[in-house]
Amino acid sequence: MKENEEKTSCDLCRVEIPCGRAYHTIHHTIEYAEHNNEMDRDEIQVLHSIVLMTLCVSCGKKFNLYDMADAARALKESSKLTE
Ligand SMILES: [Zn+2]
Repeated sequence: MKENEEKTSCDLCRVEIPCGRAYHTIHHTIEYAEHNNEMDRDEIQVLHSIVLMTLCVSCGKKFNLYDMADAARALKESSKLTE
């Protein structure tokens, strides 16, 4: 890592995550799917991606991603109710 590069830190405990260590990230992406006829397979291109949250391994283990997935499904269901 170069000296002037921004260092990665955990968004929960604020510990610095040194280069060479694993960590968790939660992203928001905008994707584009299309079928590649030549290869006969679907392909997905990521058009835009931003990191919403970065967690050290310790906090990542405590952070329940399944709760977040349940919340996203609940939001999806509630949006159906308002249609
Ligand atoms: Zn942490």
